[in-house]
Amino acid sequence: MFAHNKRLQYTVRVSQSNPALANLLLEQFGGPQGELAAACRYFTQALGEEDPGRKDMLMDIATEELSHLEVIGTLVAMLNKGAKGKLAEATDTEAELFRSLQGAGNDSHVTQVLYGGGPALVNSGGQLWTAGYIDTIGEPSADLRSNIAAEARAKIVYERLINVTDDPGVRDALTFLMTREVAHQQSFEKALYSMDKSFPPGKLPGDPRFTNVYFNLSQGEGDTTGPWNDPAVFQVENDVANAHSIDGDGMASVAMAPDEEAAVQALATRTMSSPDTSPVTGAELASGPPVEQAGQRR
Ligand code: MN
Ligand code: MN
Repeated sequence: MFAHNKRLQYTVRVSQSNPALANLLLEQFGGPQGELAAACRYFTQALGEEDPGRKDMLMDIATEELSHLEVIGTLVAMLNKGAKGKLAEATDTEAELFRSLQGAGNDSHVTQVLYGGGPALVNSGGQLWTAGYIDTIGEPSADLRSNIAAEARAKIVYERLINVTDDPGVRDALTFLMTREVAHQQSFEKALYSMDKSFPPGKLPGDPRFTNVYFNLSQGEGDTTGPWNDPAVFQVENDVANAHSIDGDGMASVAMAPDEEAAVQALATRTMSSPDTSPVTGAELASGPPVEQAGQRR
């Protein structure tokens, strides 16, 4: 079950109205790296998780992400509050109100006019939130890696948001939210490496002929050797000719039923091209010698 506590996880102190900043913060409310996406990601993973430790961790973090959603949504609401009131009550002239929606070069009119200044489940560009942001595959060795990357991306978006505001209270709350993503990233990394076997993901082993091969397919100046293609670990293939047909002749084939075979043959015959025929085409007719028109300089 869920229960709501009226106190925020982190105190929100906003110095002044700033609808433009509110719009940028929507990135972490209804954007792909935002708190709703994070909460839904971990909540749904928790429901399907078999390991009691991971299940508990995923529920803990999912619930915390909902608490973050509340903090970032409250920041948006506070930053919009003044402009929302003035627009609702039409306290200024039309021109003044119109200007107040524009903020510091960032349009907040969709948020104000359509959503009434409330935090909407959209990103900073107005794109509607979608469950497609969540890439859960239902296998912890893959999902934990994706979760680690998701926390890293969320951390980076918070960092960018912190860099665009000098409001100390907003910076403080954003710094808290950013810091918690770092903590989550660590928990997911520990959970990944606490699995007995997390690489390769899943159960089937790779084909040993190819698991440790590195194809050097981009050759020339800039070719670099590093741990990602260390010959001590990888069999480095520098001969491009050896990078195709690695298992046979490299050609495609399919076995078909006789009626399929006959239909495909009929299709091929009907659509066959003739290399010896070259009739004049419409494009050629249209691109004939240019016709000089009266008054046209050539
Ligand atoms: Mn969060
Ligand atoms: Mn997080």
